[in-house]
Formats: sequence, C-alpha cells, structure tokens
Amino acid sequence: MKISCDCGAFIARLRSFPKNTPGRLVCYCNDCQTYVEKIKRTDILDPYGGSEVIPAYPKEIEILQGLDTLKCYLLSEEGTYRWATSCCNSPILNTKPGFPWAGIFHTAYTNQNPTALSELGKIKSRIYGKYALAGAPFKISEEIAFRDKLVVIPFIIKGKLLRMDKDSPFFCADNATPIVKPEVLR
Ligand SMILES: [Zn+2]
Ligand SMILES: [Zn+2]
Repeated sequence: MKISCDCGAFIARLRSFPKNTPGRLVCYCNDCQTYVEKIKRTDILDPYGGSEVIPAYPKEIEILQGLDTLKCYLLSEEGTYRWATSCCNSPILNTKPGFPWAGIFHTAYTNQNPTALSELGKIKSRIYGKYALAGAPFKISEEIAFRDKLVVIPFIIKGKLLRMDKDSPFFCADNATPIVKPEVLR
C-alpha cells in the first residue's frame, strides 16, 4: 500500500498494510478539528467535524520520495506531532514518539487510489462526539467508550511488544527528536 500527498510529491509505502491496522477510525476531538482549521484543510473533515484515520505502525512506513516536503506541527509544546507536506499542504499523519501509532489520514490513502480503503469495510470507531457538530446519522461515542478501546488496544499491545514504534522515518535515531523542527500552531 502506498500513501501520498494530494499532488504526489510525497509518497510512502506501508510494508504490511492492511495486516495490522485496526481499521477506519474517526476522531471528532477539539484538537483534530483545530489542527485542520489552522492549516486550512477543513475540507478533509466529514460533515460533523471528524478526521478519519487508518493507523499503521511507524516501523512499517518507508518514505519513497518527498522527504523534503515534510512539515511537522504541534498544537502545544507537548503533544501529538502532526505531519503535513509543504508542496500541496496535505495532512499526512499524526504520531507520538515512543508510541506504536501513526494515524494516517484517509486522504493519504485515497489520493492516488480512490478505492484503497474499500477492503477495510465500514468505520470501526467514532470518538469524542461531544465535540462533533450536531445531527450525525450514526453513533459517536461521547469520549472514548469501551468498545472503541477494544478496536485499538490489540493494535497498541502488539505494537508495544514488537517495538513497532522504533525505526520511525519521522524521528531521528534517538526515536524522540522529529526529523523536522516542529512548528507550534497558535
Ligand atoms: Zn504534495
Ligand atoms: Zn482527535
């Protein structure tokens, strides 16, 4: 599986996708909405303010081209590193050092292959509904419900046991310093 930015300058390969992914997840939280508002990409949200991501392990990501297009954003000094590209301002994925999780935006999968996610089926979990816009025709957990944890916990446990946070192409050899100096969005 390959993921890319909107214009195709940035391309990465996911080595064993979809073997490990927990599937399609949508987050309606304040931070995820604020982020795309700040980078002016609210067009990637669903009509109720949701960001759809399909996680993969950082270790399974191999950047094939466009490393120099990467930008790294933070909403506060401590927090999730949100990666996008400078070429066409595409959000790509969210990560945290030392955590076996790269939440890759659905658009990064479908930019070059509109049916890339069809084999994953329906959305498995929708969280932080308390921040969602009203009127959604599907159920969104108020925050993170037990059933939402069941969707992602096997992925996280397996990732921790197998150290799938390591060798992330987004962090230096110390597995903590982002390869690009993060910009704090204010
Ligand atoms: Zn691009
Ligand atoms: Zn969120």
